[in-house]
Amino acid sequence: MKLFNTLTQSLEDFVPLDDTVRIYVCGITPYDTTHLGHAFLYVSFDALMRYLRFRGYTVKYVQNVTDIDDDILRKSRELGMAWDELGRRETARFLNDMDALNVRRPDVYAKASEQIPVIIEIVQKLIAQGYAYESQGCVFFSVKEDPEFGQMARAIGLLDYDAMLKIANERGNFPDDTRKRDPLDFVLWQAQAPGEPAWESPWGPGRPGWHIECSAMAMRYLGPQIDIHGGGADLAFPHHTCEIAQSEHFTGKAPFSRFWVHVGMVHQDGEKMSKSLGNLTLVGDLLKTYSPDAIRVTLLNHHYRYPWECFPPDLVFASGVVDLFKQVRELVGEQPTGEDKLLHGRFIAAMDNDLNTPEALELLHQAAETTLETKNINTGAEVLRLAGVLGLTV
Ligand SMILES: [Zn+2]
Repeated sequence: MKLFNTLTQSLEDFVPLDDTVRIYVCGITPYDTTHLGHAFLYVSFDALMRYLRFRGYTVKYVQNVTDIDDDILRKSRELGMAWDELGRRETARFLNDMDALNVRRPDVYAKASEQIPVIIEIVQKLIAQGYAYESQGCVFFSVKEDPEFGQMARAIGLLDYDAMLKIANERGNFPDDTRKRDPLDFVLWQAQAPGEPAWESPWGPGRPGWHIECSAMAMRYLGPQIDIHGGGADLAFPHHTCEIAQSEHFTGKAPFSRFWVHVGMVHQDGEKMSKSLGNLTLVGDLLKTYSPDAIRVTLLNHHYRYPWECFPPDLVFASGVVDLFKQVRELVGEQPTGEDKLLHGRFIAAMDNDLNTPEALELLHQAAETTLETKNINTGAEVLRLAGVLGLTV
C-alpha cells in the first residue's frame, strides 16, 4: 500500500515497524457538538483501520480526548458547569455520533487529564537536556535550542521562522507572553490561573500544554516510535511540529512517527467549517434526514487528503448508491457466497493507492448496477463484502 506522508510530501510504501501497526490520531476537545468536519476525519481513519485489518495487519489504534483545555474551561464557565462534567457530556455525545456512523472505537481512548505523571517525566527530561526552561511556574520548549525544529512546517510551505510565527499566532500562540524567551516557544506546562483546575508539579500547580499531551499518550500506549500519526490538516503546524521536537529529543529516537497522515478540512459557505465561525453542519442533524450509510458514502466519496464542501445533492446521490447496495442485498441474500476476483483486485488497487475511497466506491457502484442487470450473484456477493470493508452496513 502507498500512503502520502506529509513530512516528505510524497507517496511512500507503507511498511510497519513490526507485526502490529501502531496508529495515533489526535482526538476531539469535548466542549461542543460533532460536525461534519469531525465525521470526515474519523470516518477516513476508520476506513484506513478497517482496510489495514482487511489486508491482514494487526492494528493498535489510540485516539485521545483533550479533556482539559482553554476552550473547555471557557465554555464550562459560560454554562455554569464543572469542566470535567462538560467534557464527559460532550465526549459521550461525540461517541454516540461516531457509533451511529459505524466508526469503530479505538483500542485505547486516552484522556489527557490522566497523563500528568508521564507528562511531568517528559518535561523534566527536556529541561535537563536544555531543550526546555522553567519561567514563573510555566515550562516552555525553546525552539532556538533545537536546530531541527520545523521540519514538518517547512514540508507544508512554512519556510522560515517568520512564516511559522505568523501561523502559530493565528492558531492560539501567545507571542507577547513575557515569560517566554522567544515568541515561538511553546508551553509544556502552564502555571495555574486563578479559578482554574490544577495538578501538582515540580514547577508548582498547573496543567499541561496541548502538544505535550499527545506526545505523552502516543508514547505511553504505543511506544517511542509509531507507524502512523494522524489528524486534521490544520494540526501539521504547530501541533505536530511541536510533537516531533519534544518526542524525538525525549526518546533520542527518530522518526517519532514513520508516516504523518492529514485529513483535509470540510468547508461550508466557502470557509473552513469551525465552531468559531458558526458555519457548522452537525452530524446529529444530518442523521435526522439521511441514513448513516448515506452519510458515510458522502464522506468517503471525497479523498481524505483534500478539502471539500458538502452540498445537499451529494447526500441525495449517496442515498441512491446505498439503495442500489440494498437491492443487491435483496438479490443475493443475507449470507451470500461467491466472489469476483476482478472486482476484488480493482478495489485493492484503488485502496492501495493512498486510500482512494472515491475510486473504490465508484467501482462498487458500477458493479452493483451490473449485478442488478445481469443477476450475477458472485459479483453481488463481492460488492457487499467490499462495502463492508468501507464500514457500510448494507
Ligand atoms: Zn494531538
